[in-house]
Amino acid sequence: MDKKTHIVAGVCRQCGKNKYLSVRGLCYSCGIANRRLAANEMRARQGPIFERWQASMIKSGNKILQDIQLARERKQKLADSQRQMMEQQ
Ligand SMILES: [Zn+2]
Repeated sequence: MDKKTHIVAGVCRQCGKNKYLSVRGLCYSCGIANRRLAANEMRARQGPIFERWQASMIKSGNKILQDIQLARERKQKLADSQRQMMEQQ
């Protein structure tokens, strides 16, 4: 049985059956199957869904490290310029 979130009828882009679809164009049973597969991959820590998640975690971790480094450099530059101003006086 299709849930309330699946109110537009059409062809499911995964199974190709004519059903009620989610906003992502999937029928209810394909959506549930995908969620189960993703949960299993996360638990097993392997598979394409897990690898995509892992890559995005690494990417965001790297971004945070870059931001920390930039903030350190900015702070150092500010301290340097303040020291120079003190020396000039
Ligand atoms: Zn489907």
